[in-house]
Amino acid sequence: MLGRINGAVRFREPLSFHTSLRIGGPAEFFIMPQDLDDLRYALAFAEQEDLPLIVIGGGNNLLVSDRGLQAVVVKLQGILGRAEFSGDEVAVGAGMPLSALIREAAAQGLGGLEYLAGIPASVGGALATKAKTAEGSLLQHCTAIYFVYPDGTMGEHRASGSTGGQSFDLPKGSIVVGCRLQLERRPAMAVQKALQHRLKVWKETQPFALATAGYVWKNPPGDRAARLVETVGLRGKRVNGAEISSKAANLIVNRGGATHHDVLALMEMVRERVETRLGITLRPEIRLVGFPAGVPFEAQPMELSAAR
Ligand SMILES: Cc1cc2nc3c(=O)[nH]c(=O)nc-3n(C[C@H](O)[C@H](O)[C@H](O)COP(=O)(O)OP(=O)(O)OC[C@H]3O[C@@H](n4cnc5c(N)ncnc54)[C@H](O)[C@@H]3O)c2cc1C
Repeated sequence: MLGRINGAVRFREPLSFHTSLRIGGPAEFFIMPQDLDDLRYALAFAEQEDLPLIVIGGGNNLLVSDRGLQAVVVKLQGILGRAEFSGDEVAVGAGMPLSALIREAAAQGLGGLEYLAGIPASVGGALATKAKTAEGSLLQHCTAIYFVYPDGTMGEHRASGSTGGQSFDLPKGSIVVGCRLQLERRPAMAVQKALQHRLKVWKETQPFALATAGYVWKNPPGDRAARLVETVGLRGKRVNGAEISSKAANLIVNRGGATHHDVLALMEMVRERVETRLGITLRPEIRLVGFPAGVPFEAQPMELSAAR
């Protein structure tokens, strides 16, 4: 089955190479499907080996166990990582980095996505996690979202109107393979200028040069998790190589050599202190992968796409 796959197939690939936190043990099988056939073979292989199949994008929202994953991990590439422009529309593969899509669109005088510039994500990851800024999400620009069910059949979510694909919920275990977006035609210089401005503001507020992941905690209703972390005095707190960012307190950065234990220790410290001092229960936003269900945080079992 693996011999039929055109894309790269690696064994015991360190997932720390594929996560923005630079943490994560080896994936038993790591496959980079180049097209839909490759992806279907990967699904069939996982089924045959009775292993879960896990899809990752840019790895920007993941804390992966140092023990690694007894799983088939796929990362979409090839034609599943490219964009094709036609008029004001673009058909884009889920493996394409969001930043590359925004840059390519800007070069063609197509705007509308500038406010998403800076969010580190693949297109598939952005759709699956509903990545957003205060101004909206990629979903609202979608006129169609394409995905593959665990049995390898194709699914499609058609979207229309001003809310686009915002109502989209990925069926359990499915993999987003691409989408169609409606963009705005504007002078290329104006789009580039808006983009540069966005990136400048973004860089001023994020710990950019450091290895980090997305927000650790969901914002509780009516409040911001970052404010709570600051209130209990844990901004800048460090456990070995892991540190709560002093620039954005809802981020944890890997200052070098951090393990999943270090990150979990910081998370447990925050969770416990916010609960006892402020009476608020924080829930993780970051996806924990490769940890037993229910451990260490009740809200996030290992819940990525399973091929069964
Ligand atoms: C510095 C920094 C700033 C950030 N700022 C923001 C922000 O402003 N707003 C925001 O919303 N997020 C933000 N994030 C979080 C992160 O960028 C988003 O969650 C992003 O959508 C993750 O995309 P990814 O491709 O890296 O997904 P990954 O981290 O690789 O995966 C995340 C989840 O998506 C699933 N997934 C990935 N690809 C697919 C696919 N093709 N089909 C089905 N499921 C898939 C994975 O299985 C996993 O469950 C930030 C992260 C960092 C590091």
